[in-house]
Amino acid sequence: MKIFEQIAFSGSEQVVWGSDPASGLKAIIAIHSTARGPALGGTRMYPYRSEEEALQDVLRLARGMTYKAAAAGLALGGGKAVIIGDPAKEKSEALLRAYGRLIDTLGGRYVTAEDVGTSQQDMDVIRQETKYVAGTSPETGGSGDPSPYTALGVFQGVRAALAEIFSTDNPAGRVVAVQGAGKVGYSLCRLLADAGARLIVSDVDEAKARKAVAEFGAEVAEPEEISGVECDLFAPCALGAIVNKRTVRKFQCRIIAGAANNVLAEEKYGDLLHQMGILYVPDYVINAGGLINVAQELEPAGYRQEKAVEKVKRIYDTTLTVLKLARQENIPPYRAAARLAEERLQEHGAAQNRRKTA
Ligand code: NAD
Repeated sequence: MKIFEQIAFSGSEQVVWGSDPASGLKAIIAIHSTARGPALGGTRMYPYRSEEEALQDVLRLARGMTYKAAAAGLALGGGKAVIIGDPAKEKSEALLRAYGRLIDTLGGRYVTAEDVGTSQQDMDVIRQETKYVAGTSPETGGSGDPSPYTALGVFQGVRAALAEIFSTDNPAGRVVAVQGAGKVGYSLCRLLADAGARLIVSDVDEAKARKAVAEFGAEVAEPEEISGVECDLFAPCALGAIVNKRTVRKFQCRIIAGAANNVLAEEKYGDLLHQMGILYVPDYVINAGGLINVAQELEPAGYRQEKAVEKVKRIYDTTLTVLKLARQENIPPYRAAARLAEERLQEHGAAQNRRKTA
């Protein structure tokens, strides 16, 4: 596909290419939508094999951010950026500052944050060149590590899903398999264990799995076995595309709900899970806690933790709304979530048009 065809196909409003040969910066910023507000989305730094692959990734990720923000009811659009390069070898202060200047030229249409290959410290460097960056360290007025908020949001979504299937949202006594005991997975384990759930944990990093055993009395499953363990709820908190051709028939759970992005390798697996009677809670509905938290930084009064927590907890209601729509229409929840997000985007567009003609 030609470049403009790809951009049009993704629905992105604008794509910006930034180059700074002195520092080696090669960046692509995709602004998918500003219909509901500035396009907020992280910067991924990754050694893409080709520029084509980087463009595809940024367009896909930016679109995802529009849906995530709209489903969460935030007054934000969706965007994402990629920097082509190996963060371990090619990231430097000069590169990040050049990147910050590039973001600044967009005058706030795009606001960045951390993602795979970038960190809070990197956001602090970018902050020296532009104010259009969120997720900086608390010392600079930022909201810090988003992971505990993502975990809190996942926990709320898990409770809503339990209510849908078991008519009670109480996790006590439920068996939950958590794939990945990293930043989000570990915090989620703590919330679930405190609420009385029984945990089965898996992590390729054995030390992390052992920590979950010691702290939460979790059982351990081998990484290749976790998707097939018998449980009430499977929480993917490691990799994307975990529901795929190889795994989809193995699941022995009633619910799949976790932090990982792009859980379905392809949408057709969402249909298949629906046919199999497994409730899949769409990833971008349930894992929006980090985004909701970071978005609080953009409020006129600045970041307020208690406000952020209050909003993250609303993921419970959003999840119930999506699951109710799916039940009423007998459609898979991933389709219900997309419909909800699209309706919100249209409502916003219509409201803006009414204001313009008034
Ligand atoms: P992380 O890197 O801290 O944790 C991931 C964990 O998964 C690591 O402990 C890793 O060892 C483990 N892991 C990797 N491959 C595995 C496998 N095959 N089996 C079992 N464990 C495996 O990352 P994180 O910040 O906790 O994010 C977890 C997921 O949630 C990612 O997919 C991320 O994109 C998504 N997410 C995170 C946030 C956030 O706020 N951090 C927000 C939204 C979505």
